[in-house]
Amino acid sequence: MKPQIRSEYNGKGYVYAASAADIARDTGFEKIARLASNENPFEPAPEIQKAAALALSDINRYPDPSSAKLRAAIRKHIYDAPVVVSGSGMDGVIETVIRVIVSPGDTVAVAAPTFSVYGLAAKAASANIVNIPSREDFTIDIDLFIEKARTAKLSFLCTPNNPTGTTVPAAEVKRILENIEGFLFLDCAYIEFADEDYYSLLSAENLIIGRTLSKVYGLAGLRIGYAFVPEWFVGPYMAGVTPFSLNCVSEAAGVAALENPSCRDRLVSHVRAWRKRFEEEIPFPVLPSGANFVLINTAPLKSDDAVVQLQKKGVLVRSCSSFPGLGDTYIRVSIGDDWENERFLSAVKELC
Ligand SMILES: *Cc1c(COP(=O)(O)O)cnc(C)c1O
Repeated sequence: MKPQIRSEYNGKGYVYAASAADIARDTGFEKIARLASNENPFEPAPEIQKAAALALSDINRYPDPSSAKLRAAIRKHIYDAPVVVSGSGMDGVIETVIRVIVSPGDTVAVAAPTFSVYGLAAKAASANIVNIPSREDFTIDIDLFIEKARTAKLSFLCTPNNPTGTTVPAAEVKRILENIEGFLFLDCAYIEFADEDYYSLLSAENLIIGRTLSKVYGLAGLRIGYAFVPEWFVGPYMAGVTPFSLNCVSEAAGVAALENPSCRDRLVSHVRAWRKRFEEEIPFPVLPSGANFVLINTAPLKSDDAVVQLQKKGVLVRSCSSFPGLGDTYIRVSIGDDWENERFLSAVKELC
């Protein structure tokens, strides 16, 4: 007899971007413009590659369980505040935070539409998930958020939000923190591209700020996430985290990336300039974005059809039809290298 699994896992999990290699094979393009995953399009600096290569000589040993070097580099180069890390990206931080805070049946509130990992990880914890809708223009209704999240054990707010690009002002986040009983996880995966900063809120006892080296620091392949947490939360986090989750190669590359801020600054300027051009030249409504991507409404064209048409022109973008609460005419397009953005702009102009 076939043994049983949890019914939650009979359905779909995380929706991954299509494979650029498959599209290249099907279309005959030598290179595909990879604008579906909000990555840094540039090759890592030689110093970063060298640091990773040097760490290879230690891979017969388990890594430092406290990731002391990476945490010290984060405190030096980002914020000097209590920080925890994960070796499976911020996704791993989110899973650990939920493991430590949420018991089966507890309420987890999520501002939607947003990144799917909160819901997937909360489901794994058998949480009661409450989605909080945003306004029609995709800004967050703070009063509604507070009303729905007030008694939740943990709430998620992403700013700038994936996939809408919407950024929540620090004063509004402060109001949330002062009016809810549980934790707020503020997902700041794209904060380096925005004009907002939440450092001043870090003294709150119920705020966790999730960040990552996958986006602006260009290390998506090494899976390094971190979070600023209240001092007292470091102990519980360490008690709940998967042992040795951050490997020594990732840690070494992460430290090198933090010590080379010129790559980050170059990407931020590149993204800001292209974001403006995207807003001006894309012949569809484009939402104002604080991130390294834009959300585009291709109506009346369905997003799944737009994605297929763009793929035929060698451009890979993300259909947002899998984001609940967003409808079926939105695509999310990352800002890539110059040639990728140029190819996308020509292709999108032919969609209308
Ligand atoms: C990409 C992303 C993350 C996490 O990325 P990791 O690679 O797991 O660090 C987290 N939140 C949002 C909103 C993202 O888009």
